[in-house]
Amino acid sequence: MRDCTLNFIRSPSLQSSLLHCVSVSPLKEYKTKTRSAILLINAGQLLTLRPTRQATGPRRGPDLRELGIINDGAVLCIGGKIVSVGTTKDALRDPWIRKHRKQLTEIDCASKVVTPGFVDSHTHPVFVRPRLVDFEKRIEGASYEQIAAAGGGISSSLQAVRNASTAALTDKVLAALKDMAAHGTTTVEAKSGYGLTLESELKSLEAIRKAASAWPGTVVSTLLGAHVVPKEFQHCSQKYVEIVCKEMIPRAARRSLAQFVDVFCDKGAFTPEETEQIFAAAQEHGLSVRAHMGQLSETLLAPFLRFDPASFDHLDHVNDDDVKRLAMRNTVATLVPGANYFLGLKTYPDARRFIDAGVPVALATDYNPGTSPTISMPMAMSLACTQMKMSPAEAIAAATINGAWALRMADRKGSIEPGKDADLAVFDIDDYREIPYWFGANHCSLAVFNGVLETRG
Ligand SMILES: [Zn+2]
Repeated sequence: MRDCTLNFIRSPSLQSSLLHCVSVSPLKEYKTKTRSAILLINAGQLLTLRPTRQATGPRRGPDLRELGIINDGAVLCIGGKIVSVGTTKDALRDPWIRKHRKQLTEIDCASKVVTPGFVDSHTHPVFVRPRLVDFEKRIEGASYEQIAAAGGGISSSLQAVRNASTAALTDKVLAALKDMAAHGTTTVEAKSGYGLTLESELKSLEAIRKAASAWPGTVVSTLLGAHVVPKEFQHCSQKYVEIVCKEMIPRAARRSLAQFVDVFCDKGAFTPEETEQIFAAAQEHGLSVRAHMGQLSETLLAPFLRFDPASFDHLDHVNDDDVKRLAMRNTVATLVPGANYFLGLKTYPDARRFIDAGVPVALATDYNPGTSPTISMPMAMSLACTQMKMSPAEAIAAATINGAWALRMADRKGSIEPGKDADLAVFDIDDYREIPYWFGANHCSLAVFNGVLETRG
């Protein structure tokens, strides 16, 4: 890890754009808007995640450990964007900041750790109730069939979502987003997938949109109509695939309700052929694709690469040729160790194999009621360190900049650089390694979401 000192206002053009920004809109006006001008100073460790010399795409191999730490760092945010990054000493000497300091909302980070807000690139927040029957029965050793017979399993989530109003689902999603925010997450990918009818999938996406508009962070929505084949289509899955391709995808695209289409491609879910059909429909309607792959069994990834997926998620089972292929592409391997933990599995995705081969790796919570009921990115990072042997630095980069790449938002998210969205999290600790170390605890004391400041407590 190298320390670095930057000039606070980095370039004359940035300085003039900053002054221009202020001259057309006086700073005092920012106070009356939701986005104030914020100056964070005295960050003991400011984890910038700024680009490394080599990297032009997602972080791979040794680059995943480069956090770009500035000791005693400072960040200036105006109008929802980061405008400059450097040391506190440089910031406080800067003529522009000296002149306008009284008009800035100043946050003294008191030597604590500041990171880019976490990017949780895989969540399923549109559900009504926790699946406590599944939880208890699984502990007793019940099979999937026994859990379903006892009233648990995915069908219990389906019924509740189909019966729920959009407003009720919106409240659930918003509550989850607020919990995520309290743990330092500022960008969330949110999937539908517990309705599995045209109406209830669109209703789920609508709930995501409404919740997103009431939350200061950023939400990326994904249509997961192809989560499982619903019971009523059990013996004619092709008919259901046609509903996904010919009704759900076109309607979601027309109403701009989703940016991505996801498919659960695995044993007991959708076949590779069905997945290709769904990907083709997504592409036809201008939506990007991502997929749950290799969670339960190995699926060959090669046939899907022509669709340029943003991410393959889970990847517990992958062959060596596919690892080599992924190492040459920007498709991110999104690992979700929370699911392995909660299901009590003895094995986890082989993160070291991916990282050492040069595959870009991201971490996400997979927040869902059946297999990973956690909203905590620090928990996912802790599991990544203890169970998948990722270093704390690798876990941080996987939870920030590579999560942003997994959502195709790396131009705006995932690092603390001038020009990017002002998404920051402050942790009440002295060293970034404490984030995954204190597992199960939340040390996030404050976060900034697109320039909106929220404190915890
Ligand atoms: Zn998932």
